Amino acid sequence: MDVDALRSAQHHCETLFQCPVCWLPKLEMVYGTCQHRVCVDCVYRAGVLRSEFSKCPTCNQKFPFPLYRPIIPDDNIEVQKKLGITRCQNSTSCKTEMWLWEIEEHNKVCKFKKPKKSRSESQTQSPEL
Ligand SMILES: [Zn+2]
Ligand SMILES: [Zn+2]
Ligand SMILES: [Zn+2]
Repeated sequence: MDVDALRSAQHHCETLFQCPVCWLPKLEMVYGTCQHRVCVDCVYRAGVLRSEFSKCPTCNQKFPFPLYRPIIPDDNIEVQKKLGITRCQNSTSCKTEMWLWEIEEHNKVCKFKKPKKSRSESQTQSPEL
């Protein structure tokens, strides 16, 4: 696969799987009855459905989402992880979620970045699944 094809595949993946409202890759997505997905941070405020989301932002179906924020099953979160969405590994305080290929950029600006470790601890870490 050449670089252009890879880029466009990435772009395709991004537009398909990130939240259609905030355009961010999110691990916790809520499915409407119409099968469209929006991230829980957009749909719910303090655990309650926001009035803007009494219809689906994608297809306008009425009341597709539960009135109260559901528990997102681990299975759903696993699916998002398989698609390449991950959470910042720097600290439990950093809740930033992003595509795997954006981690390097994020690490440059992450407020929670740990200082560089000594050689003995610097083996490459794979994101925990
Ligand atoms: Zn969102
Ligand atoms: Zn819909
Ligand atoms: Zn971070």
